[in-house]
Amino acid sequence: AVPSVATALRQVKLDKESELRVEVGPDTPLRLRLLTGSAEIFGTEIAPEIWLNFPPRLNFAVFTWYGATIEIDGSTETDYTADETPMISYVNVHAVLEGRRNRAKASSSDSDSSQGPRVIVVGPTDSGKSTLSRMLLSWSAKQGWKPTFVDLDIGQGSITIPGCIAATPVEMPIDPVEGIPLEMPLVYFYGHTTPSVNADLYKVLVKELAHTLEGQFAGNAESRAAGMVINTMGWIEGVGYKLLLHAIDTFNANVVLVLGQEKLYSMIKNVLKKKPNVDVVKLQKSGGVVSRNTRVRQKARSYRIRKYFYGLSNDPSPHSNIANFSDLVVYRVGGGPQAPRSALPIGAKPAADPTRLVSVNINRGLLHSVLAVSFAKEPDQIISSNVAGFIYITDIDIQRFEISNFRLIAVYQKHKGQLPGKFLIVGTLTWIET
Ligand code: ADP
Repeated sequence: AVPSVATALRQVKLDKESELRVEVGPDTPLRLRLLTGSAEIFGTEIAPEIWLNFPPRLNFAVFTWYGATIEIDGSTETDYTADETPMISYVNVHAVLEGRRNRAKASSSDSDSSQGPRVIVVGPTDSGKSTLSRMLLSWSAKQGWKPTFVDLDIGQGSITIPGCIAATPVEMPIDPVEGIPLEMPLVYFYGHTTPSVNADLYKVLVKELAHTLEGQFAGNAESRAAGMVINTMGWIEGVGYKLLLHAIDTFNANVVLVLGQEKLYSMIKNVLKKKPNVDVVKLQKSGGVVSRNTRVRQKARSYRIRKYFYGLSNDPSPHSNIANFSDLVVYRVGGGPQAPRSALPIGAKPAADPTRLVSVNINRGLLHSVLAVSFAKEPDQIISSNVAGFIYITDIDIQRFEISNFRLIAVYQKHKGQLPGKFLIVGTLTWIET
């Protein structure tokens, strides 16, 4: 597409079943509103007349089923209308899922059939997985369901910061600007943005998350019937592929949506032949999906961490606090790259246990690390515990044996200003504030 530098207020008329695709510019925000007709952004209907403000760099589409007029104010990197979209096929999937939810709701709550659809979305990077997950969630929330969103993407997940896997119920259509609300997600900290660093740990955490959700579903017929939508990583070769199969299996997915790749579709279809109750469905990738290179991805990760600590509105004063070393214990999980052979006594083998806890000295080496605060009460609970939030170490004063200026965000508001536990987990996740 040709970059446009239009800045003036302008109107765009959309015919039925078409969309306006927008890439917000790198520096300036953009606002947009619906003038006539009806339209939605990734499954969430937008209200008429009200200006929506989009932050720089966001990519989105305003889609209309019946026709609409949109007004835009501000410059974009690109914006264009498209009348070829896969939206009909996506909404057809939604209709099938709705049918299953209704059947699940109607069955007696102790039977297997009271379990609603467990949908897992797979495909290469930039095939529109997160976007499709979001649409399916928003459409179903609009109809009154509270489906559970599970995000297994440690690189570009949309529930919390990178390096985590997480789940949260979606009770309302997802806000097109704010995204998933950060209220009460269930978060497990992996600590790295690629699975290859410790694939076994990744699997263990996926299991823990699935297990916890299984427990929640058992006591909640409503969320059981609404089911789950599981977003995955775009890593589909080698270990990545194995991890996908592991996730399908661990979550007992019964619908696998494969986006934009014939080969992956046939591989998965073939493996799942033995499981007749799992439907594997191939879906077309939208032409609107924007490809992001490594640098853009890195930026997006930074942006998510910033958003976590400062909020969207750039709140200048996140919780800032000082902790004493004596109150905290930092662990790294797995032998990992931090224990090179050369550092070991001659003849010793690096410990291979992927869930081995290694205690870490608190020193300036931790500067700029993003650490998770575990809910664990004892070290041996760390692997199986979810995390309460994250801290970012902005300064360490060796003399005073204090960490100053770390930031804790209250995922759990009741812990405001106080760490809900003394065990911190560190991985390779870092953030340089810019
Ligand atoms: P994946 O999860 O497969 O990596 P995403 O769903 O995150 O892919 O999509 C990649 C990017 O493309 C995101 O920035 C998303 O907002 C954007 N995008 C997806 N669909 C559209 C569309 N129809 N129009 C404009 N941008 C889109």
